[in-house]
Amino acid sequence: MFDGLSDKLSGILDRLTRRGALTAGDVDAAAREVRRALLEADVALDVVRGFIDKLKERAVGVEVIKSVTPGQMVVKIVHDQLIETLGATADPIDLNAPSPVPILMVGLQGSGKTTTSAKIARRLTDLHKRKVLMASLDTRRPAAMEQLAVLGQQVGVETLPIVPGQTPVQIARRALDAGRLGGYDVVVLDTAGRTTLDEAMMAEVAEVKQAAQPHEVLLVADALTGQDAVNLARSFNERVGLTGIVLTRVDGDGRGGAALSMRAVTGKPIKLMGVGEKLDALEEFHPARIADRILG
Ligand code: GDP
Repeated sequence: MFDGLSDKLSGILDRLTRRGALTAGDVDAAAREVRRALLEADVALDVVRGFIDKLKERAVGVEVIKSVTPGQMVVKIVHDQLIETLGATADPIDLNAPSPVPILMVGLQGSGKTTTSAKIARRLTDLHKRKVLMASLDTRRPAAMEQLAVLGQQVGVETLPIVPGQTPVQIARRALDAGRLGGYDVVVLDTAGRTTLDEAMMAEVAEVKQAAQPHEVLLVADALTGQDAVNLARSFNERVGLTGIVLTRVDGDGRGGAALSMRAVTGKPIKLMGVGEKLDALEEFHPARIADRILG
């Protein structure tokens, strides 16, 4: 089992005699352990490489302050760099647009997209006092539409009545019309996922985006996703264009590497995180918490 990177780094570097500044040799030794920790946390290989290069650049020559050991100094530099890469501040949903503000939810089936749509609707209703309408665009799975309606009832948020036979674009247009007519502030559009990244899903989501002109396009992604996280985030970002990421299952025992990978390849902020199955289990993103977990 992994011992915890902090202990390992301290161990390696504290064997060295104390010097004024970190040398290339000190940093190389530390970088090997950091690299191993990032890979164990399932951070994508390319992202690990970029991270380590930057770490070496910034750490060599740094003066070790008197109150800490060289090991503690490197741990602090790695931690700071992780937080910086993850996005230092929480970046909540942007509602600064004419009402009703369309929010498009995208992601793979099973990622927690429908649950997260309801969680976000609840948060906007309760915390931000907005009037929210939700609509499911999953024409392939009637059960998914029913699921959103049930979740809507549970959180006290209206869902668009289901009309069989409509295309996703038609439903999106109907939702926005209903949003305008009903004086809603926000319309949350829950798109259909697939179990794997596939062209039909991307084409459908891109078409809905074109029709709905959403102000936010949020990728819902499971924090337990391993190396696939990069492909997932990159594909959605290139094909559809994201404004942010919502990480689900942060309550699970994953090491959180997917967060770093997705943030690094898209440059898009992680806006919120799901921390449980309950509909109030949604929190603002805390980079420090993920950084601690990645460090092990
Ligand atoms: P979708 O197919 O992407 O719409 O996924 P669902 O919203 O149906 O969610 C799939 C399962 O994941 C459900 O059992 C949810 O309760 C569960 N789920 C969603 N978000 C979280 C989360 O943050 N933590 C945990 N533990 N479970 C979650």
